[in-house]
Amino acid sequence: MSLSPVSKSPVLQNPVSPRPVEPAPAGAAPAQPTSKRGEAMYDLVRELYPICRSITGNGVRQTLQLIARALGPELPLEVSEVPTGTEVLDWTVPKEWNIKGGWIQRLNGERVIDFERCNLHVLNYSTPIRQRISRAELEPHLYSLPEQPDWVPYRTSYYAERWGFCLSQRQRESLTDPEYDICIDSSLEPGHLTYAECVIPGQTAQEIVLTAHVCHPSLCNDNLSGLSVATFLLKELHAVAQAQQPRYTLRVLFIPGTIGSISWLARNRERADSIKHGMSLVCLGDASPYCYKRTLHGQREIDRVLSHVLASSGQPHEVIDYFPYGYDERQFNSPGFALPFGSIMRGQHGKFPEYHTSADNLSFISGQRLEQSLELCLAAVHMLNDNRTFRNLRPYGEPQLGKRGVYKALGGAHIADTQLALFWVLALSDEQHDLLSIAERAKLPFNTVRDAALLLERQELLRAV
Ligand code: ZN
Repeated sequence: MSLSPVSKSPVLQNPVSPRPVEPAPAGAAPAQPTSKRGEAMYDLVRELYPICRSITGNGVRQTLQLIARALGPELPLEVSEVPTGTEVLDWTVPKEWNIKGGWIQRLNGERVIDFERCNLHVLNYSTPIRQRISRAELEPHLYSLPEQPDWVPYRTSYYAERWGFCLSQRQRESLTDPEYDICIDSSLEPGHLTYAECVIPGQTAQEIVLTAHVCHPSLCNDNLSGLSVATFLLKELHAVAQAQQPRYTLRVLFIPGTIGSISWLARNRERADSIKHGMSLVCLGDASPYCYKRTLHGQREIDRVLSHVLASSGQPHEVIDYFPYGYDERQFNSPGFALPFGSIMRGQHGKFPEYHTSADNLSFISGQRLEQSLELCLAAVHMLNDNRTFRNLRPYGEPQLGKRGVYKALGGAHIADTQLALFWVLALSDEQHDLLSIAERAKLPFNTVRDAALLLERQELLRAV
């Protein structure tokens, strides 16, 4: 089905209502969006933040509806619902999880831990429970972070049925009564796994696929930042595509981590063969330097493009080798599919202290940094589309450019660079070197080399292969 922003989808009749979460830790810098676009990107995160998401359930559906609204009617979001029990590759779609509330309460009725205040308080995918329990019996069901005594950890138990509460170490230490009343008002029942995709058609059926995971509750960097960057990337590229259709089809997947990409791959085995380049978008709003994680192969075109875009960006960054944990790139790189999937992030998986805690909140990210990440991803997609390989049609000696009016066509502030680029492109257009490798060999900006190639193509001196 297609989710248009004005549709009233029946799956959203019982959404999880937005609720406030606990305040940001002291000392966190307030977010300072610097442009209208950065502000809009941040606003989308702010809107999505209160929703309790998981790998299945109404929180995912409500999130997708808000993304559909942000995309607008010209970019329909296609939503898929995969029934519980469906075999997907070596996995099975689990029961659907939904939650209305959860608390730990003193016998006098005072709620000391409440899901209404912070949706991380209930172990994600917790089974329901309601009973009076001794403090000693409660103890093995509590999760806290002794080294960060004010932060609430984010914990899940998707594939083992159990119940639990996550709380700050200080809250845990304050639970000194002999008995408590506890309640987790959740349901774990046959239902569906929900994911969505949005496509901008290109000149060819070959695809660039980007993923962002939609399964985390109130956590901003991981991965509401990725959802916001992916949404605004689609909006920007849709506008560009109105003027000129891009070479590649762009597909963006908004999917629950791991089981979502496994479900998509299981249902799109043939389409997977069309994926030429891919990347997961994660943790793109914090202040860490950028990090690009290479594909498993390590030397694919997307690896070269991201290395080049980051090096040209002037932003502090590193490029690291593939490792077999992290995000959805793991499924696409698996040897049966062997797709060239990298991952772009700022803070790295599991390596920043706020990772998977209540401190990954609205103060931890900024609109300005979201927008920087958007610019970086846009540059990467444009370069993938523009990075063609040519054949020199006059390869015997240098073609005489003057008589063709090529020099007169040169303009702009960097005529000398462009002229040099013309000769490099002619010299290396042997069907073996793409424009990016020519730019690197010539130590010239990619766009200068691309423009030189376009000029030579118009003069019928080059033909794309
Ligand atoms: Zn995570």
